[in-house]
Amino acid sequence: MSTSEVQAPKPRVERKAPLPPAETMHRRTRKRFHLVFFLIFLVLPFSNLMRFDIPRQRFYLAGFELWISEFAILFFAIMFLMFLVTASAILYGRIYCSYACPQMIFSEWSQAMEAWGRSVSQKLFPKGTARKVTGLAIFYAVLAIASVFLAFVFTSYFVEPRDLLSRLLHLDLVTVGGITGASVTLLTFLDLVLVRQKFCTTVCPYGYLQGMLQDRHTLLVNYEDPDKACIECGKCVRVCEMGIDIRKGPYQIECVHCGDCVDACEDVLRRLGHPGLIQYAWGEAPAGTKVREPWLHRIGLRDAKRWVILLIMLFYLVGLGIALSLRRPVLVYIASDRSTLYTVQADGKVVNRVRIKLANRSPRATTVRLWVDGLPGAELALPANPVPLALGEVLEQTVDLRAMPWADAQDVTQIRILAQAQGDRAPDATELTFLMPLPRK
Ligand code: SF4
Ligand code: SF4
Repeated sequence: MSTSEVQAPKPRVERKAPLPPAETMHRRTRKRFHLVFFLIFLVLPFSNLMRFDIPRQRFYLAGFELWISEFAILFFAIMFLMFLVTASAILYGRIYCSYACPQMIFSEWSQAMEAWGRSVSQKLFPKGTARKVTGLAIFYAVLAIASVFLAFVFTSYFVEPRDLLSRLLHLDLVTVGGITGASVTLLTFLDLVLVRQKFCTTVCPYGYLQGMLQDRHTLLVNYEDPDKACIECGKCVRVCEMGIDIRKGPYQIECVHCGDCVDACEDVLRRLGHPGLIQYAWGEAPAGTKVREPWLHRIGLRDAKRWVILLIMLFYLVGLGIALSLRRPVLVYIASDRSTLYTVQADGKVVNRVRIKLANRSPRATTVRLWVDGLPGAELALPANPVPLALGEVLEQTVDLRAMPWADAQDVTQIRILAQAQGDRAPDATELTFLMPLPRK
């Protein structure tokens, strides 16, 4: 190898120290929660975990098919949900809005789709008006398909999904269900295109309610700049999808406590070797107070009021559990029909009329066996016993209860009619009286 072929040493490149890792990743965490809550939103109505079936007047909760008449269960369920929302607002501020609300999830998704449509059209048509038109066309096409899907899921909270699917496949625009489905689809599309987060600051009552519920210990996003380190870069304002400046105060009604501005400020200032100026805080706690607090305080249980709310929630949850555990899969209602006190047949048997109502609230077809206690030789004139009941069937009948008077029979005899559904451990007992003619002296 000649000396001319010896290459000159490469100039040394000064490498800058790598940036310190970002300390806050609220947006990434939030997106993961969005995925989880989106899946929950999809699963709830299809698995009967939660659905208010309006045409059938049934409420599905945790797999139970509840009837509108089952007041105790509905009461405990509604009260529990109400206190759950209240507790989450008092303890964690608008964490529901930013982490779990479908409106927020779909609004942010729609914004991401708009940006994606623009980037695709930019690659296809680097110049010209075709770029803008294509971007919008892609965006609207994706949103139209998504609107049909989301409206279907949303309407499934109120109509049985298979019934709804058949209406959709038949493009039903005539019946009330079909027109409702089409209207919800249109509203969803307009919401995703035009409304988005404006809904949170105009229509949604939860944002206003939050203002009343929060107190000096509620988790919020706070800006504090004791060292005057803000460089006025404005990134915290640009990333805010609610369009506000958190530096103007933590109690702005638009703020959904999403933490995007926390990430943004942290990202800017860590490059300059400073900590971020915006952070989550329990109330307006002064920044920089790094005192280790007890773990109960760190999860938000910071005063007696919070414990009381949790205890009330627990009370309703236990009440709901008890009401569900006491629930019978078949509703049995039995009463005497006293339009005629009694009749006497030609063969001497005395007949009383009894009104029977059986309602199958279980998730499958079943049978109910009925028998009489305390009336010797009693015959309950049912067409079939056990009585077959189809899924959701309500059977109402007035039947004859016959018995032959016995030697020391009284004019009024206390009896019980028992009903036991298939799979029930114990029968339902209804106390009645059986009337007979006065014994002749
Ligand atoms: S101010 Fe910050 S926390 Fe509040 S909504 Fe805007 S980005 Fe989210
Ligand atoms: S991101 Fe931080 S440094 Fe930039 S303007 Fe907002 S508060 Fe100031």
